[in-house]
Amino acid sequence: MIYLDHNATTPILPEALEAMMPYLTTEWGNPSSAYKFGAKLKAVVETARGQVAELIGAHPMDVIFTSCATESNNAAIAAALKANPTKRHIVTSQVEHSSVLNYCMALEKETGSTTPAQGATPPQLRRGAFKNSPPDSGGAGALATGVVTAGPYRVTYLPVDREGLLNLADLEAAITDETAVVSLMWANNETGVLFPVERIAEICRSRGVLYHCDAVQAAGKVEIDVRKIPADYLSLTGHKFHAPKGIGALYVRRKSPFSPLVYGGHQERNRRGGTESVPLIVGMGKAAQLARKHLPDYEKKVRPLRDELEEGILGSIPNTELNGHKTLRLANTTNITFHGIESEALLILLDKEGICASSGSACLADSAEPSHVIKAMKPDTGASRQMVRFSIDAATTREQINLAVTAVRRSAEVLTQVVSRS
Ligand code: PLP
Repeated sequence: MIYLDHNATTPILPEALEAMMPYLTTEWGNPSSAYKFGAKLKAVVETARGQVAELIGAHPMDVIFTSCATESNNAAIAAALKANPTKRHIVTSQVEHSSVLNYCMALEKETGSTTPAQGATPPQLRRGAFKNSPPDSGGAGALATGVVTAGPYRVTYLPVDREGLLNLADLEAAITDETAVVSLMWANNETGVLFPVERIAEICRSRGVLYHCDAVQAAGKVEIDVRKIPADYLSLTGHKFHAPKGIGALYVRRKSPFSPLVYGGHQERNRRGGTESVPLIVGMGKAAQLARKHLPDYEKKVRPLRDELEEGILGSIPNTELNGHKTLRLANTTNITFHGIESEALLILLDKEGICASSGSACLADSAEPSHVIKAMKPDTGASRQMVRFSIDAATTREQINLAVTAVRRSAEVLTQVVSRS
């Protein structure tokens, strides 16, 4: 098998698995327990938190473990909205991941209601949930006082140009006094196109609007430093940088408002209820530590191979076209339109050749819909149904790239002949 779909998910690093093993076997306690067998795991979780924080230049206290980036994205947007109950406008882009877009679309459908808690006295929770809210956090106060909503949310989905780039003047124009939060990703999962997050964060800050950044595809591929990028919220997920699936993180800037999406126990300093999955957290921590260590070499390793793959396909297969900016793009990703060939047919032939690639986000792979990202970039062409994304990794070899180029060429020739006969 030649795996060229690392933007969908990555294999667990042996070092991460090894670090996890004790917590899957002998050290299976609950970190919230009072006795040593469980309580000693608190330190283990904090070590991993430090490792994840270091990957993004954050203070460990500002990192919350979640179940995945979908949860982190939902939690960040929800927290920003709760902190600004009278502001009913969200700005995002047409090319965000479905975990942002579908949440925004669901919010647009909300009818709006006033829901102050009436009558019933809440039970007294042991160890006083909400008492330990971090300093300066909006805490869980929004829930305690009831959320007063006033009509549905309005969402602006910013367009991108044919190269997948955002026009910052559009962002400036979209922000109004009604805007509660801007959610714009760092790197696009389908094309790898990079948004100018530093400028976006500055614009949001100067306009007094909260900024959430989905940095899922950037982690381990480009330097992330929240000291340089003044985002209020930043989402990560472990399985894109060789940690297991089912573990994510949300960075929340110290003075930015936050209230939980998942209410429960007092875990994560009352910011995310639910017993911590120590093995997954440890796996994410170890993978984050290694991602940081290997970051200086990452581009040097993957860019030449990605370019060979890209040039091999574009140079030898007629009617192919790159989707996404030539340089403002992750070094591991190439997204190519094969004009006249349906993505799904090509992917099936490639699968038979042992090559794993995709036609967009893995989260939408089972839907018959064309790529919303390519559609936003090139609405006037059939490109959104005729594209394939290849995403490589530092472990990808030149031999694999050569075999892949040959297989893609062979498969494209077969399909071109079928199309010309029909
Ligand atoms: N955001 C982006 C840009 C992604 O690529 C993905 C996963 O494909 C997600 C969010 C969702 O991550 P998770 O699978 O951890 O929910």
